[in-house]
Amino acid sequence: GVPRICVTGGAGYIGSHVCKALSARGHVPLTLDNLSTGTRQNVSWGPLAQVDLRDGTAVARTLRAHQITTVLHFAASAYVGESVTDPGKYYDNNVGGMIALLRACGMTGVRQVIFSSSCATYGIPDQCPVTEDSVQRPINPYGRSKLMCEDILTDMAGQYGFGFAMLRYFNVAGADPDGQLRERHTPETHLIPLALMTAAGQRGEMQIFGNDYDTPDGTCIRDYIHVSDLAQGHLQALSYLDQGGAPLAVNLGSGQGYSNLEVLRAVSRATGRPVPTRMMPRRRGDPPVLVADAGLARAILGFAPRRSDLATIVGDAARSFGLERAHAHSS
Ligand code: UDP
Repeated sequence: GVPRICVTGGAGYIGSHVCKALSARGHVPLTLDNLSTGTRQNVSWGPLAQVDLRDGTAVARTLRAHQITTVLHFAASAYVGESVTDPGKYYDNNVGGMIALLRACGMTGVRQVIFSSSCATYGIPDQCPVTEDSVQRPINPYGRSKLMCEDILTDMAGQYGFGFAMLRYFNVAGADPDGQLRERHTPETHLIPLALMTAAGQRGEMQIFGNDYDTPDGTCIRDYIHVSDLAQGHLQALSYLDQGGAPLAVNLGSGQGYSNLEVLRAVSRATGRPVPTRMMPRRRGDPPVLVADAGLARAILGFAPRRSDLATIVGDAARSFGLERAHAHSS
């Protein structure tokens, strides 16, 4: 029958966009979230169970009550900078949460798990664009916690006989083109939303962390993937597992890299407003360049990003902040 799906972290930025995409396919996803960073307003496409993943008994009870067969696991702490200053939080919440969740899955009727992994597991890659078989040598506790989770999932899924997919996200950005959801973190630390807040005059200036990297303009380069494209990638991974696909670790990125200064220019263009900028020292834990080789996702899942060019990502994000310029000019 139709898989009964639980989305951990469904009240957060990415999880909520995936719930919306699941709903458009006829699913009624159960959100499991402790609301530590997510919000109730993001949960519009199915019930919410307010549960902490580390409470394995409560998780098992919830999975059983909803007869869950498929888990999409997003709930995690996800600030690179914070992971350097408070690593214990990352190992407790991300690794502890993963172990308790998988044990609960093993005790109930779960058959497949899709896990939100990260390009941060690669650290400073040997080759760029980075392929899935590159060595994973993370350079911050956030990345290490995600790599540990990949290993734990591989071992425990083997034990329980789950199908699974580990999706290594690059920099997720943008917002629901319909305007129902947007990117919001408290505190906000991500480049595009901060630049939009700066363009809106809510902050005095944009601080850029490092302009002495070995890149064309000296600032870091990232691969931005639109959150709606990422959500489609999850639906494709679900179909893949439903068809009995083998365990999979796959990059979800656009394959295009943009420097931090290019992103700020795109924000100025999208909003018609300046983004005052100040150069700062490097941020600890930042790799200089991270760009996906997205070939495996295309080949195995049929992943084909539609809204992940920088102008569209920034335009959707700007609109979700109420900052779209009245008339876009081509010059
Ligand atoms: N960044 C920056 N100033 C900010 C926030 C981010 O220069 O106020 C840079 C950051 O150092 C990195 C890039 O923007 O090079 C993307 O950072 P973000 O935190 O958005 O995502 P991450 O790559 O850490 O997942």
